[in-house]
Amino acid sequence: MQVFKFGGASVRDAAGVINLTAILRSSLRESGKTHGAGDDQPVKTGNGPSAPTDPLVVVVSAMGKTTNLLERLVLHFFNEKTGDNPFLEQARDFHFDIAAALFPDPSHPVFDEISNLFVEIEWVLEDGPVDTFDFTYDQIVSIGELLSTTIISHYLNSQGLQNTWVDARNFIATDNHYREANVDWEKTEKLIKTGIPPLFEQGFVVTQGFIGSTSENFTTTLGREGSDYSAAIFAACLDAAQVCIWKDVPGVLNADPKWFDHTELIPEMSYLDAIELTYYGATVIHPKTIKPIQNKGINLLVRSFLDTSSDGTRIGTTSGTKSIPSFIFKVDQVLISIMPKDFSFIVEDNLSQIFHLFHKHRVKINMMHNSAVSFSVSVDNQADYIRELVRALETDYQVSVQEHLELITIRYYDQQTIDRVLVDKEIMMELRDRDTCQLLVRNRTAGK
Ligand code: ASP
Ligand code: MG
Repeated sequence: MQVFKFGGASVRDAAGVINLTAILRSSLRESGKTHGAGDDQPVKTGNGPSAPTDPLVVVVSAMGKTTNLLERLVLHFFNEKTGDNPFLEQARDFHFDIAAALFPDPSHPVFDEISNLFVEIEWVLEDGPVDTFDFTYDQIVSIGELLSTTIISHYLNSQGLQNTWVDARNFIATDNHYREANVDWEKTEKLIKTGIPPLFEQGFVVTQGFIGSTSENFTTTLGREGSDYSAAIFAACLDAAQVCIWKDVPGVLNADPKWFDHTELIPEMSYLDAIELTYYGATVIHPKTIKPIQNKGINLLVRSFLDTSSDGTRIGTTSGTKSIPSFIFKVDQVLISIMPKDFSFIVEDNLSQIFHLFHKHRVKINMMHNSAVSFSVSVDNQADYIRELVRALETDYQVSVQEHLELITIRYYDQQTIDRVLVDKEIMMELRDRDTCQLLVRNRTAGK
């Protein structure tokens, strides 16, 4: 069996949904072929247990920039408390416009289902902000995925691609760490293993990325861009042969085209390289995706939904892949330098206190370095969290904070690649190990 994952960019408009349909149609035909169905036979799904196609779970994100829009909606709700929420209308229009372009019959049930999902948001808004921000965020932002999968599942069925819409919250069991929920693997595996396979008798399964639910049935989210992780969870629990993530890039590139003119496609990559690169901030795949698929030895393909003729990147067990240098850029970094006020050494006891405070204030470290009496880290600029953290650290430490820095990570570096990225930069902190070099830099030309 296989798991496909389609991100927001792939379904940002009606044309995107039509393109997704074409990809599924040809993939189902391909897998039908391998099961002995004739070349020119129409795609058949839902023929009972002898259906010719390989079982498939399709995981989909919210459409286009819906998650950002719903995030703004929640912020507005918390800032303004009452009154109209302009983002609600925007989200509603966006989804109804896409549905109208896909379903010529205005009495199709999809329109009622979309309305009902918006009613769920209205209910939360009517009550005013009574719960915590993170809890409310998850109850509202998760609607984005429910909307996209509702529209897409109906559309695929209307095009003869028989599928069952599944509410991922009935399968992905989590704790109640809202906005970054942790998966209860034991429970999740049981739910998926017993609940999903019987559905393959009626074709493939369409479900949401990014969302789960607590034991009290409250909705949770797995962290931004978490749909890749959802795909990996379904794949691991179903012992899938492979996961395919459909992206708007040709596969995993050695640098983000946003920062680099000349990028190279990496056709094959080890799990280790994939987990290292995503850990350092490569955004092509969510960092949590690799572990579950590595643990089960599942292949991960990263392919382009814009050019289906290209093979993309295969991540898996590889033998002797060529190690071309990869570059990862993280902008808007903050350097926090911490020194004990009493000039004591930075050793185990104060390090553990410092780490505890970072964890408590949810500040994630991207790079760290220590000397005899100082400890320095680079973190993303999350101003609110950092302010609270610094306040807590200042009891025992002298803390300095420097903003507007960039973190450059090069995997498989050499001096030439380092020189290439250091033009007009001043190094603030540098770390090297055998394979990876991290440079925290300040732009010399900034502000000039
Ligand atoms: N829709 C969610 C987000 O934009 C999850 C995802 O796209 O993977 O973060
Ligand atoms: Mg996304």
